[in-house]
Amino acid sequence: MRKYLNLIAAITAGAVFAGKYWRRHGKNQRIHVSETEDAYRQARLRILILGSGFGGLSTALRLDRELRQQDMCSVLVVDRDNDMLFTPLLWLVANGRISPNNVVVPIRDFQRGRRFHVLHAEIERIDLQHKEVHTSAGIRPYDRLVIALGSSTSVPDLPGLRAHAIPFYTPSDALLLRNRLVDAVEAAHRTIDPFERQSWLTFVVGGAGDTGVELAAIIHDYLHAGLFREYPWLIDASVRIVVVGRSERVLPTSKPQTSNLVHFVLEQEGITVLTGRSITAASEKAVETTHETIPARTLFWAAGITAPEVVRQLAVPQARNGAIKVDNFLRIPGYPEVYVIGDSSWPYDSTTGAPIPATAQAASHQGDYVGKAITLEESGKPVPAFRYTTLGHLALLGHYKGVAELGPWTVDGVVAFLLWHLAYLVRNPSWVKRIRLVIDWALSAILGRDIGQLRTEAEVYERTKVATREARVGKSPLDRGG
Ligand SMILES: Cc1cc2nc3c(=O)[nH]c(=O)nc-3n(C[C@H](O)[C@H](O)[C@H](O)COP(=O)(O)OP(=O)(O)OC[C@H]3O[C@@H](n4cnc5c(N)ncnc54)[C@H](O)[C@@H]3O)c2cc1C
Repeated sequence: MRKYLNLIAAITAGAVFAGKYWRRHGKNQRIHVSETEDAYRQARLRILILGSGFGGLSTALRLDRELRQQDMCSVLVVDRDNDMLFTPLLWLVANGRISPNNVVVPIRDFQRGRRFHVLHAEIERIDLQHKEVHTSAGIRPYDRLVIALGSSTSVPDLPGLRAHAIPFYTPSDALLLRNRLVDAVEAAHRTIDPFERQSWLTFVVGGAGDTGVELAAIIHDYLHAGLFREYPWLIDASVRIVVVGRSERVLPTSKPQTSNLVHFVLEQEGITVLTGRSITAASEKAVETTHETIPARTLFWAAGITAPEVVRQLAVPQARNGAIKVDNFLRIPGYPEVYVIGDSSWPYDSTTGAPIPATAQAASHQGDYVGKAITLEESGKPVPAFRYTTLGHLALLGHYKGVAELGPWTVDGVVAFLLWHLAYLVRNPSWVKRIRLVIDWALSAILGRDIGQLRTEAEVYERTKVATREARVGKSPLDRGG
């Protein structure tokens, strides 16, 4: 025993020493570079990147590698947030396995020792004619523009849908999902009406693409591996999770073999998969589809994305969701100096003509290509058209379950689960976050899921509104039933 304690003490002391040494010597040696607005304006080549997500950041990193020797070039990244949101990890916030802080990577960390600059500002308007971008911090002109502004979940304007469907795109959405599951379970615990209890314990997910199936699996996982431990009576209750998709199969853009496997895994977990139908309306107590009415109190939305308003405003050819149609070089036709990448663009593979999916993987690949294309252009060399090659397809399907499509192979179960974790650990651009993630995973495996309710800003605001309304009619907010 004493031997082990000594070993643990030695490892801890070593880690603390290494951390202190790295913070003092490693991190600080790679200083930040930060130029003035004048320096940007006077540069011979001004490259403006809008968005510091997967696409924007990979463009900046590629340009940094390629343009190191060119002093007359300035690269400016503009984003309203100070960090990059690593969306694939949002599932692990939702199922209580990691802290919400660990899904974001501070942009300033990347800037250290690199040659691109960062402006923290809202992008208000893009003026393609005058080659300038209006931001909350003033106007920035450009010689090359890279639009990488991503997308957000679009909930269709159908009866009751916008009022009742909960989207899933941000860390607050992940916390809200947890809160809503806890609220639903508590409400089911309170009621004695069996019909009402069943509707509280029915969770509907709109959309059977990647996000929809992963969302359904995560709800199942959080209930079974997290909440049910604290609500043992629920283990025998009939919890219902229903995925509704318009296509005839789940994951319609994947190989049929992968779709069938995912369908099988979901049904094995007890998740109901309803394909070939659409959700047409929602109310506080039910979700209507083209085929049936599902009594349910909670509806999550994971179908369809839309480009940001600032992109939709551009008078250039767009797809139905506002994404900009680009040529084989990811440029806007008629504007050779403007590239659009990631979810804000609507590209096709230059050889196969196949549509390129709106994924983090594709956005990073496109960003890397654009960084290279700009340097080739600058040195007068020919630029090849963009070709998309996928590294594979991973889906996390809950507790030690997943599906991985790697070239001609499809694997599932614990192997896919481990591959998923390994892939996103490797792809996470920050060493600090990687270490924190591994610690979070280990802690959740040992200590269990976090089932605390951290209320989001919107929920607190909603509560304040209710309290104010009740105070006005002379009712104490503490009088609310329950
Ligand atoms: C829950 C979830 C899970 C996902 N899982 C996966 C996965 O496992 N694998 C995968 O490949 N893809 C996954 N995706 C998809 C992936 O997140 C997107 O395809 C990817 O983020 C697109 O990259 P992007 O660079 O286009 O945009 P983003 O990464 O979204 O970056 C856009 C940036 O633009 C900024 N911005 C937008 N508008 C403005 C403005 N007006 N002013 C200033 N800044 C602005 C934003 O702050 C943001 O930083 C997932 C998505 C979700 C929601």
